[in-house]
Amino acid sequence: MSSSHRHRALETVERLGAPLGHFYGGKARAGAGPTFSVSEPATGADLGRACDATQDELDAAVAAAKAAFPAWAATPGEQRRAILHRVADLIVARADEIAAVECLDAGQCWRFMSKAALRGAENFRFFADRAPAAADGRALPSAEHLNYTNRRPIGPVAVITPWNTPFMLSTWKIAPALAAGCTVVHKPAEWSPYSARLLIEIAHEAGVPSGVFNAVNGLGETTGKALTEHPDIKAVAFVGESTTGAAIMRQGSETLKRVHFELGGKNPMVVFEDADLDRALDAAIFMIYSLNGQRCTSSSRLLVQRSIYDAFVAKVAERVMKLKVGDPFDPETEVGPLIHSRHLAKVQNYLQIGQEGGARIAAGGGAIAGDGYFLQPTLFVDADPSMRIAQEEIFGPVLTAMVFDDEADAVAKANDVAYGLAGYVWTRDVGRALRVANALEVGMVWVNSENVRHLATPFGGMKASGIGRDGGDWSFDFYMETKNVALAYGDHKIQRLGV
Ligand code: NAD
Repeated sequence: MSSSHRHRALETVERLGAPLGHFYGGKARAGAGPTFSVSEPATGADLGRACDATQDELDAAVAAAKAAFPAWAATPGEQRRAILHRVADLIVARADEIAAVECLDAGQCWRFMSKAALRGAENFRFFADRAPAAADGRALPSAEHLNYTNRRPIGPVAVITPWNTPFMLSTWKIAPALAAGCTVVHKPAEWSPYSARLLIEIAHEAGVPSGVFNAVNGLGETTGKALTEHPDIKAVAFVGESTTGAAIMRQGSETLKRVHFELGGKNPMVVFEDADLDRALDAAIFMIYSLNGQRCTSSSRLLVQRSIYDAFVAKVAERVMKLKVGDPFDPETEVGPLIHSRHLAKVQNYLQIGQEGGARIAAGGGAIAGDGYFLQPTLFVDADPSMRIAQEEIFGPVLTAMVFDDEADAVAKANDVAYGLAGYVWTRDVGRALRVANALEVGMVWVNSENVRHLATPFGGMKASGIGRDGGDWSFDFYMETKNVALAYGDHKIQRLGV
């Protein structure tokens, strides 16, 4: 099974073009700009090259989105719903191909990617079903006026996505934007650009009209920057690092871009002594070591109450040492390679930083010999909350465990960080669960659970983890403008000046 999926993914990559260009105005386009290489994380081998968009190509993609906007915005929601359901149907039909491409260029494991592609289809269905009512507003009558609101799509938007789970994350943004009636220019990450091309191919096969959905490839500092500065782009939906979010805010400031940022995380998992410790153990391992640790909501800081700390971290260490690391295409593999040699070097550097800071490695701690970008899943214990490994996003299979004494200490340590994306609380005491959930400075809390996404709920972070929320109607609020119309009943007093 493993080699047949890899073979298929290699065929897809070859078909998509050498080098991979762009797709706008309903057509795939060869790129004229400089190219950059895309590697296979599991082998370190070159997979192919992709093009950095030139300014002319970028302008043409934005012009296509601008030209297509009025008709798409005016398309009845029922029609958009039907088209977006067809997109979902075709994603399901090609789910194995998409998953295989993600294993190949992002190094993600088959066991997770086979589900992530289907999740992308669900994202399209969820927002497709809401398209007909997306413009609906509220009636807000006052004594003298009938006020009513409605919403209209904001215009052409940029969607800029990272490399970690590229397909699923793109659908989170693109599905609501299209359902709202916006047109899109997507720039996928340069380290894993191939599945984005599959999504745009599928969208066109499903009947998304030319120019409604466009994609350009390229580097962040060139193509990404130019896209966020473009005057015809009305909003930027961005998922990536906090520092990049800050740069995009600066870049978009001249043209007053609306921004939606889903940024980094350093998420606490707080385990109290009364928790179901077997389930907490499963969740702790899953949330940091799945997706190769390259997950924004990973439970990268494990806070354990003192009375159970030694026993609990010993069990974590035992499980970490048994994680199956290897070929991402092997359905048994639990941890695959990191995305890129540069990212591997960054994560490895944190292993040194942690030890120099005084933390102890209880499991893992080394690279794995070979050409791929593999790292042993690693557990740091006895860390102090002020250490860099407890403060900075490592974005790899590295867990930092710390001790706490009581509820107040747990909350203080959990909040003592620049990020505020997600938090996980494990306790059987309902009152404590509520108090801690309220006190955590994060956008999302899961109590006695790992991250289980329900699309109707808001997804996003506080502090350095983001601005805005995805999911349900929150997504439409971002991709749409709200308008209020006030109609006078007819007899209110109007001040008479200059009489
Ligand atoms: P990144 O910020 O380096 O890149 C993300 C995207 O931004 C890429 O497409 C890149 O080309 C582009 N980019 C880079 N510089 C740019 C610029 N100046 N202007 C415009 N675009 C630019 O992030 P990454 O390394 O690809 O992804 C990892 C990060 O993403 C982690 O911090 C992770 O936590 C975060 N992330 C967050 C979420 C979330 O929902 N909060 C989800 C997944 C990943």
